[in-house]
Amino acid sequence: IDTIKEHNEIIHVLPKLPEHLDVTFKAKIAAQRRDDIKKNHSATHLMHFALRQVLGDHVQQKGSLVTDSHLSFDFSHFQKMTDEEIAAVEAIVNELIRKNSTLNEEQLPIEEAKKRGAMALFGEKYGDIVRLIQFDKSVELCGGTHVSATGEIGAFKITSESSIASGVRRIEAVTGRGAMDFFDKNITVIKELEQLFKVGTEKVLTSVQHLQEENKALKLQIEQYQKTAILQLKNDLKQKVVEKEGASWLLVKLDVENANQVKDLAYQLKGEVENLIFVAGADIAGKANLTIMFAQELVEKLGLHAGNIIREAAKEIQGGGGGQPFFASAGGRNPEGIQKALEKAEEMIIEKIKA
Ligand SMILES: [Zn+2]
Repeated sequence: IDTIKEHNEIIHVLPKLPEHLDVTFKAKIAAQRRDDIKKNHSATHLMHFALRQVLGDHVQQKGSLVTDSHLSFDFSHFQKMTDEEIAAVEAIVNELIRKNSTLNEEQLPIEEAKKRGAMALFGEKYGDIVRLIQFDKSVELCGGTHVSATGEIGAFKITSESSIASGVRRIEAVTGRGAMDFFDKNITVIKELEQLFKVGTEKVLTSVQHLQEENKALKLQIEQYQKTAILQLKNDLKQKVVEKEGASWLLVKLDVENANQVKDLAYQLKGEVENLIFVAGADIAGKANLTIMFAQELVEKLGLHAGNIIREAAKEIQGGGGGQPFFASAGGRNPEGIQKALEKAEEMIIEKIKA
């Protein structure tokens, strides 16, 4: 239910009309929800105070959202808060909570409230008589709902700090039951990590770091093995070069892990085989790959264009691609068509040579 104030009357707005308009209604506050909101809202006061202590007086409230599950607070500040600053704000708020400062609530003329150092909030309209809310040294003008002593808030934890506009930061935080949920969730993750790594809490971090290092080393090893395999493959391919039509032909279906390996291979062969015509097809994890490499002298002498040829040949693998005169590659959905694509490319090349 939305609640608004008009002409000093408090109005509750229902989403739809009740079925029986002639009966008496009793409005009841959802106590638990209200209680959670009170805690989150009151903590916003304490946090506002703490932010000014830690970051300085330039901190001004730019917006505030309080729900029963969390609080969100926007304020002016020009850089990302450091971990130390966040910890300092949490420490001040939690100290104020443990101090269990009682709420001091007063109605007084606005001039008098300002003399008491009360902070007026962004976007609020104030009458002549205002409500001053004080917890310890935090003094604000506020019409919201508050705990009667800060100890009720239970605990305060910042869950995120981010930028929402130039010079405006947003803090999200939890209190009371929300804070307990937050701690429980985080502790559960740590416990699961402990079980996975079979270590105590203090060793979880080093276990993850070890795993990362090991992973990095293994990746390097795999790369080394792949390089060796490609070298082996290149040497095998050089044995299969066929001389015809005044060129050194290699028309092959390759078994490789990724398209980059074919490209590497093509460039290496180009450097080592004179008058090279290299046309390769590969089935890489269910996807078809085509690669064409021509020796520069053939491109110049015969006007061969790898990009043009691959565009036609790629139709056989239901794909597309392109490239330069000497090198081109294509990808496609149909690995079954690789053989036909190779034949098509060969046909086109011979045609061009004979032209
Ligand atoms: Zn308030």
